[in-house]
Amino acid sequence: MTAFDYDLFVIGGGSGGVRSARLAAALGKKVAIAEEFRYGGTCVIRGCVPKKLYVYASQFAEHFEDAFGFGWSVGESRFDWKKLVAAKEQEITRLEGLYRKGLANAGAEILDTRAELVGPNEVRLSATGKTVTAERIVIAVGGHPSPHDALPGHEFCITSNEAFDLDKLPKSILIAGGGYIAVEFANIFHGLGVETTLIYRGKEILSRFDQDLRRGLHAAMEEKGIRILCEDIVQSVSTGPDGRRIAATMKHGEIVVGQVMLALGRVPNTKGLGLEKAGVQTDERGAVVVDAYSRTTAPSIFALGDVTDRVQLTPVAIHEAMCFIETEYKNNPTSPDHDLIATAVFSQPEIGTVGMAEDEAARRFAELEVYRTEFRPMKATLSGRKEKMIMKLLVNAADRKVVGAHILGHDAGEMAQLLGISLKAGCTKDDFDRTMAVHPTAAEELVTMYQPSYRLRKGERVE
Ligand code: NDP
Repeated sequence: MTAFDYDLFVIGGGSGGVRSARLAAALGKKVAIAEEFRYGGTCVIRGCVPKKLYVYASQFAEHFEDAFGFGWSVGESRFDWKKLVAAKEQEITRLEGLYRKGLANAGAEILDTRAELVGPNEVRLSATGKTVTAERIVIAVGGHPSPHDALPGHEFCITSNEAFDLDKLPKSILIAGGGYIAVEFANIFHGLGVETTLIYRGKEILSRFDQDLRRGLHAAMEEKGIRILCEDIVQSVSTGPDGRRIAATMKHGEIVVGQVMLALGRVPNTKGLGLEKAGVQTDERGAVVVDAYSRTTAPSIFALGDVTDRVQLTPVAIHEAMCFIETEYKNNPTSPDHDLIATAVFSQPEIGTVGMAEDEAARRFAELEVYRTEFRPMKATLSGRKEKMIMKLLVNAADRKVVGAHILGHDAGEMAQLLGISLKAGCTKDDFDRTMAVHPTAAEELVTMYQPSYRLRKGERVE
């Protein structure tokens, strides 16, 4: 019999929190979980899930156009933003219900309240003012879009939090940032008929991705009609008499738009959480500092997911939660494996990627083979759409291992998931070559690139 109210108290009902609470409860532990907003967290409520639904919504205009080349005549089409928002709302509410049901079925106590730490084993519940105790506490409170306080007029801007539920679609939008969110939303808004400009401080969008994909996506987005301003920043934002936003940029003068959206990274939700009282250390960005087993500096407290700022991705938070359960409740010390995480950017065209980008691989390996192909996908032949797919495999010449796989084009995210398995398993280029193609697919290119397009020796291109 434990001396605490709970064996485990989880703060935060997102991907990582719900998984750890549900698994611990299913093991017979006495578990409570507290969430101040909506169960499902960023991913379900205002991230991955609604984003993907909006991506689908934004693709129909092109589908209607493409249909013509295949013999279809599509009548006049019209888009209703409010209908989309309502449909999205219905779906995320359904998912939220499933999260709650999973927790309840496992036997976890579901609390709808903010919870703050008051000690290494104590949590205060804001809704009741009550303090409860727990043998172990998991902090899985996630993060929020950076409000970029340093920007004069940032209060006139929206972030991805608001973008999903705007009262009406603006006629035009300026999106600041060049990462996942900026790029995905630029394509969503453009697809829904909003005149879209993206402004990014760096030389090329998506700084952590392979150069070829970055350039390819940039060109494809511009071809669609999205304006991309690189090496520029927004210096201030104000509101004009007509309610439109006036963004003063460093190099491109004033840009007047219906909305300005900031997509400048996400910040851990650690403010006011009582971390100091519990002896939990944070880093300079406010992220909870953890060791390889998600242990914080307080022995009874663990942290996982975005609040730790390791890799801000839903599957990573879930994996970290499962490792926590193995380590703490199954006597099987397991540290999360953050190597070779496959990821997708749901831009249009999509990016799917796993492993090192060419620049990084060229620095790492004495000799690198680059297999690269760029082609027009089959559907684009009849649709007449000017669209190219790029596929790239990077191979360490010394042991033939594939160390990076990068795709730009339709279904790239789906392909990245499977490539993730191959790279994780340590497949060599010879394994790819031995694999029979699936025909006719775009993915067959991945197993039919027999000769390297070029090599890099000590980082220098040699052929
Ligand atoms: P990212 O880290 O991807 O991008 C942030 C962008 O903001 C970068 O382009 C960065 O530039 C720029 N930036 C940061 N600070 C400033 C500044 N002070 N002035 C100007 N520009 C600045 O963050 P996001 O907000 O797009 O997304 C957050 C995280 O959420 C992602 O890292 C990702 O892990 C996750 N996510 C995943 C998705 C998916 O899996 N498909 C979709 C959406 C989000 P620079 O590159 O030069 O640093």
